[in-house]
Amino acid sequence: MTDDAPTGLAIALEPLVMRVLAGNPSPYTATGTQTYLVGTEDVAVIDPGPDEPAHLAALLAAIGGRPVRAILCTHTHRDHSPAAPALKRATGAPVIGCAPLALDDSGPRADAAFDMAYAPDHVLADGEQLAGQGWTLTAVATPGHTSNHLCFALEESGALFTGDHVMGWSTTVVAPPDGNMADYMASLDKLMGRVQDRIYYPAHGDPVENPHRFVRGLAGHRKQREGQILRLLGERIGTVPAMVERMYVGLDPRLHGAAARSVLAHLLDLETRGRVVPSGDVWALRQQ
Ligand SMILES: [Zn+2]
Repeated sequence: MTDDAPTGLAIALEPLVMRVLAGNPSPYTATGTQTYLVGTEDVAVIDPGPDEPAHLAALLAAIGGRPVRAILCTHTHRDHSPAAPALKRATGAPVIGCAPLALDDSGPRADAAFDMAYAPDHVLADGEQLAGQGWTLTAVATPGHTSNHLCFALEESGALFTGDHVMGWSTTVVAPPDGNMADYMASLDKLMGRVQDRIYYPAHGDPVENPHRFVRGLAGHRKQREGQILRLLGERIGTVPAMVERMYVGLDPRLHGAAARSVLAHLLDLETRGRVVPSGDVWALRQQ
């Protein structure tokens, strides 16, 4: 991180954008969740963050009594959306943005990582806009990290709030079954095609000032990972833990679970494309 991380202080990034860091640092959140305020006369709040009294107080101080037009959530992981109800109670603003997760079972998607209490007043469709005085935000559907992930484009400045789709400090975790590698790659392609984006403001990590080059690098990194997996399968290294050991040398052990989910996401994608087949926990190249 090049910025130091002043938890709870509102930092002005450009005329229409302020950032407030929540006090939830972890191996998954970097310095913590970064909540963004958009607007001057009236504001939108993007990713209100964890439901912590200190963070809510910091947001209310940054809002300073201005009308809040909307509370927007990029997705419903527990470090992004749980403060929405408390902020709604405090400001009267509607919760608008990503869809709640539709769970048709109590399987792995009903994971502790998700905010199951999330209940939006309105779900934004891809391309749908929300405006205040001097600002316009457009929803950009970007599934992959989660199935319900949205980015938000600030039309007046060329800023894109990327949530966890593109982060400024680490690659994104793609954890099946809700996370989907093919969707994630398609959502990277979608950002490549958005020539109007000048800068990304991620929920974790520093702003990304060369967004298209950065996204091309992320896509290349995933292609490399996929190539590594195919090579390991060629060496008959066919279980996810054995692959993680070979692919993530020196990784913080606390992140091994996330690495394993990402490897599985690649394998499921390769299976869909007819390249690999599972047999129990062991994967193999598909014989042509
Ligand atoms: Zn997330």
